[in-house]
Amino acid sequence: MIIICKPNISEGALQHIVDRIVEMGLVPNVSRGVHRTVVGVIGEEDQLRSMPLEAIEGVEQVMPVLAPYKRASREFQPVDTIVDVGGVAVGGSHFTVIAGPCVVESEEQTLAVARAVQEAGARILRGGAFKPRTSPYSFQGLGEEGLKILARCSAETGLPIVTEVMDTRQVEVVTRYAQMLQVGARNMQNFNLLSEVGRSGMPVLLKRGSSGTVRELLMSAEYILAAGNARVVLCERGIRTFEDSVRFTLDLSCVPTVLRESHLPIIVDPSHAAGRWDLVPALARGAAAMGAHGVMVEVHCCPEEARCDGPQQLLPRRFAEMMGALRAIARAVGKTM
Ligand code: PEP
Ligand code: MN
Repeated sequence: MIIICKPNISEGALQHIVDRIVEMGLVPNVSRGVHRTVVGVIGEEDQLRSMPLEAIEGVEQVMPVLAPYKRASREFQPVDTIVDVGGVAVGGSHFTVIAGPCVVESEEQTLAVARAVQEAGARILRGGAFKPRTSPYSFQGLGEEGLKILARCSAETGLPIVTEVMDTRQVEVVTRYAQMLQVGARNMQNFNLLSEVGRSGMPVLLKRGSSGTVRELLMSAEYILAAGNARVVLCERGIRTFEDSVRFTLDLSCVPTVLRESHLPIIVDPSHAAGRWDLVPALARGAAAMGAHGVMVEVHCCPEEARCDGPQQLLPRRFAEMMGALRAIARAVGKTM
């Protein structure tokens, strides 16, 4: 931590800053320049973080040296984390495609999609059983019945399952059927849920909130890591901006930023960002080129009959087409698919 003092700081105020640092068991290092005095603090930065140092008279600015997301940071762990999801690797040099319908509507619908995406090379099956819907009158998912359908589709195709958990009370039941728990964008800062999925020890897919910064996303991941669970995969799915030609603005710059800041895998969901299927392949290709560790894409055999997010779901044949392009890009950026 570096404390920059105001130009005219009094000796008394400077001494007060030094005393507070010593009180916390840390070591202050005062350096007096011609115009400014700067106090470097040596020791556990976390201890100082909770102190409102800016409130002390004579302090102009406090600059942390370390990222507040300690366990999630590259400094903490320089090598990439690779998360094992039911035998499928996510992270490192793997490019992993997760695909499936937005929501589990029936066994027939989910199994048809599962078979098609598996055939095309997807490695993990997605599908919502508990759906976060903007309207309370919209279809909310089949609940546990949906989880049972997912489990049967997994047994049938060999694909592990990722599905959303919206509430701490659902963690136990979802854990019984799925291989990975998804925390949706709306719950990125549901700290109780983050701690609970952390305690579950299960792989977690953590989606970025539509108004969450990259730093906030990493802080949310930190909750899961701090609960003793290092099996976290991050997901960029678009953020809210003034642009209204797409559902959300896909922030692809988040990918290299996360790669620099963190050892955790980062994948991209182009479907929820675009909100329309025709943009999905291009956004997915961009994500692969940016160095993402995979994509998660919504697929439906009859999008016009989908009970949720119909306009953004790809037909299986278009998904297969997209996979061909992704394979070429993954190879070009040194990843295996
Ligand atoms: C989803 O992936 O099913 C979903 C609801 O996405 P998000 O949380 O990103 O809106
Ligand atoms: Mn959806």
